[in-house]
Amino acid sequence: MGQLSLKQITKTFGTFEVVKDVSLDVHEGEFMVFVGPSGCGKSTLLRMIAGLEHTTDGDIVIDGKRVNDLAPVDRGIAMVFQSYALYPHMSVFENIAFPLRVEGAPAAEIKSKVEAAAQILHLENRLDQRPGNLSGGQRQRVAIGRAIVREPEIFLFDEPLSNLDAALRADMRIELTRLHKQLGATMIYVTHDQIEAMTMANRIVVLNAGDIAQVGAPLELYHKPQNTFVAGFIGNPRMNFLPVTCTEVTGTGVTVDFNGQRLHVEVEAPASLRSHLPGAPLTLGVRPEHITLGGGNASMTVTPSVMEYLGQNTIGYAPLPGGEETFCFVLPGTQKVPADTPIDVTFSTADCHLFDSDGRALPR
Ligand code: ATP
Repeated sequence: MGQLSLKQITKTFGTFEVVKDVSLDVHEGEFMVFVGPSGCGKSTLLRMIAGLEHTTDGDIVIDGKRVNDLAPVDRGIAMVFQSYALYPHMSVFENIAFPLRVEGAPAAEIKSKVEAAAQILHLENRLDQRPGNLSGGQRQRVAIGRAIVREPEIFLFDEPLSNLDAALRADMRIELTRLHKQLGATMIYVTHDQIEAMTMANRIVVLNAGDIAQVGAPLELYHKPQNTFVAGFIGNPRMNFLPVTCTEVTGTGVTVDFNGQRLHVEVEAPASLRSHLPGAPLTLGVRPEHITLGGGNASMTVTPSVMEYLGQNTIGYAPLPGGEETFCFVLPGTQKVPADTPIDVTFSTADCHLFDSDGRALPR
């Protein structure tokens, strides 16, 4: 149990449509992450699933039952917030026990469930303490404990790691993945952090201004983004987008003109593109980590204005003609590339993506 279906969900605040006709199935036991930039509607979507916000239109179905009109407590879900929402005057034990006390559960059941949750979360030795004496990571684990004791069909997480420092976030990512394996429950997790999405999710939903831009497994989104939005959002630093002109469509792909070089990219060309030939403007996408100093079958000269030497890799940023876009490249290790000096970089068309003028990917 723990299957969720969203059927044509819409949410408007006044005249502002923040979630637009979203349909989605989350499978039983799946770790599903909603990711997207600030304001894309991911928290609103989660809050509608939780019952903290009404839908303007559409149905929310949990395990075959429409739950739109059910109170949050009757939906079989438990939600963990960024703010922890712990009671400072209560012990860790009482904080975790709180939902069971509200339900009027017997003392023995409360004790065994709280202790079991504390063990899963490595909080056994903290049960007598107050939240004020705990680290941020421990406080978040208490909040998760309070969700676990309710034994929900579906866990909902709203940016639960946002208040933690980078090292603790990395630890908690591993903890949450372990917890998901151990409990086998359906988990829906909202974040704007693509590393959290990529590392924890079975599948990711990328949201853009209230619309689903793509749903897929993490590496599917990285290797086969369906549009420039997903291509730019998944991957860090973001994919470079270079304007090119289509010169030929063949049985094996599309040939483009890039700064006078003819590059053949193996993608499927839609019939609509053929009718626009020749000269259709396209966008060539190449990830910074696919740029090399020689060896590729395409090259360009850039003048990096900023170089970052991180030890594990070397990152360069160079303005592109036109001035607004910045070209980024990531070279492995420490490389002696000075700033403000022209340099020839190369890449391979096998690593490239092509997008039409509406930003849709030509399938690879
Ligand atoms: P963030 O990562 O910044 O939380 P988000 O993707 O979770 O962003 P939401 O919190 O879902 O975005 O908000 C989506 C849009 O809806 C935003 O523009 C927000 O200002 C607006 N919004 C959210 N709640 C309300 C509300 N109660 N009344 C009016 N507008 C709202």
